[in-house]
Amino acid sequence: MAKLNIELIGSPVLKQVATPIDKVDKSVRALIDDMKETMYADNGVGLAAPQIGKSLRLFVIDDGNGFEAYINPVITEKSAEMTDLSEGCLSIPGVVGIVERHCAVTVEYTNRWGKRKVKKADGLLAQAIQHENDHIDGILFIERAKTLYETKDED
Ligand SMILES: [Zn+2]
Repeated sequence: MAKLNIELIGSPVLKQVATPIDKVDKSVRALIDDMKETMYADNGVGLAAPQIGKSLRLFVIDDGNGFEAYINPVITEKSAEMTDLSEGCLSIPGVVGIVERHCAVTVEYTNRWGKRKVKKADGLLAQAIQHENDHIDGILFIERAKTLYETKDED
């Protein structure tokens, strides 16, 4: 495994609509392993492939309840209920914002073994899925934020 460089705001790949992955093979699993290592090294809750320079419909999340890779994800249901949440992004260091997100979502995706799965999520996982799914559509949280703050505790 290898830690990958994170693309920062201003990088064109972050604004692209990413391409579906047509085959889940060893190279995809190796990419997932590298993204996992990179996410943990940077204390992230999630990381999307465009953030490491790959315009692919793939993201990884660990909300504290275990790691999962989401390949070709589609959010199929969103709760009507929404909530204001504090959010940041590894590609936009030093900035946090308040973003309105759906409280719960259902996501369909392919896992690292090529199986199509359905997951219902709420709480931090639902927030992370919405944030990372935005990345693969070229959308950054600062575009959705109601309020943005600079933080001093980032280096
Ligand atoms: Zn992000």
